[in-house]
Parts: sequence; structure tokens; C-alpha cells
Amino acid sequence: KLENATLKAELGRATWKFMHTMVARFPEKPSPEERKTLETFIYLFSRLYPCGDCARHFRGLLAKYPPQTSSRNAAAGWLCFVHNQVNERLKKPIFDCNNIGDFYDCGCGDEKKEGEA
Ligand code: FAD
Repeated sequence: KLENATLKAELGRATWKFMHTMVARFPEKPSPEERKTLETFIYLFSRLYPCGDCARHFRGLLAKYPPQTSSRNAAAGWLCFVHNQVNERLKKPIFDCNNIGDFYDCGCGDEKKEGEA
């Protein structure tokens, strides 16, 4: 089948949105199991992402820049960085990772406030 750049870009946007929103909700202080879960997810994702070329490039990035899972900040900063690596290759604008703070809000409205159990 022919490549369809519109669909490929749409899938990419949806996927990045999901991934950034997911790490924005990753625990500030993850347990070893939570860390392993995120790491495993990312590697499995890189095997299953439907755009084969994208997935192959992404696996190259993972080999060079292994997922950071020690905290929410570390995970969000890492994902922002690798997304920027993809942006650079595709000649897209670089996102300022210092501004990632509240950019990705899942709208779930159920996250406990800082300091709550
Ligand atoms: P996107 O890159 O989809 O970003 C969406 C929005 O996220 C932006 O508008 C911006 O608000 C925000 N954003 C941008 N950069 C960051 C950042 N660093 N951190 C946080 N938020 C940010 N396409 C290809 O053609 N070839 C590929 O090899 C390829 N590889 C990909 C690999 C992966 C793992 C994924 C998920 C997608 C890949 N894509 C690839 C798709 C590509 O990255 C874009 O998603 C697609 O081209 C649409 O681009 P866009 O300009 O809408 O912005």
C-alpha cells in the first residue's frame, strides 16, 4: 500500500500526546516495580508501533538514550528530549522542555495533591 503522510502524522500526534500525558502522571517517587513497568512499556511500544520505519528509528534512539524512570520529572524530561530528537530529524521545531509543566493534562481530575497519601 502507498504511504499516506497525513495518516502517519495523525498517528504520530495522537501517540506523542498519549505518551507525554502518560509520563506527566507517572509517580514523582516511583517504586522499583513502577519503574520497571514504564521501562518495559517503552521497549514493547518500540517493537509494536505501527509505522515500521518510525519504530526502527525509535529503537535506535532507545539504544542511545535509555528511558529514564527514576521520577516523573526524569521520565517527562527524557520523553521530551527523545521527541525533540525525532523533531530534529524531521526538521520540526524544537520544543522547550522547561515548559512541559502543565502542558499535558489528562483531564482525569483525580490526581492527589502534592503531600497527600
Ligand atoms: P508532533 O511531533 O506529532 O507533536 C505534537 C505536538 O506535541 C506538537 O504540536 C507540540 O505541541 C508538542 N511537542 C512537540 N515536540 C515536543 C516535545 N519534544 N516534547 C513534548 N511535546 C512536544 N514521522 C515520520 O515521518 N518519520 C518517522 O521516523 C517518525 N518517527 C516517529 C516515532 C515515534 C515514536 C512517534 C510517536 C512518531 C513518529 N513520527 C514519525 C511522527 C512524527 O513524530 C509526528 O508525530 C508527525 O509528523 C506529526 O507532527 P506534528 O508537527 O503534528 O507534531
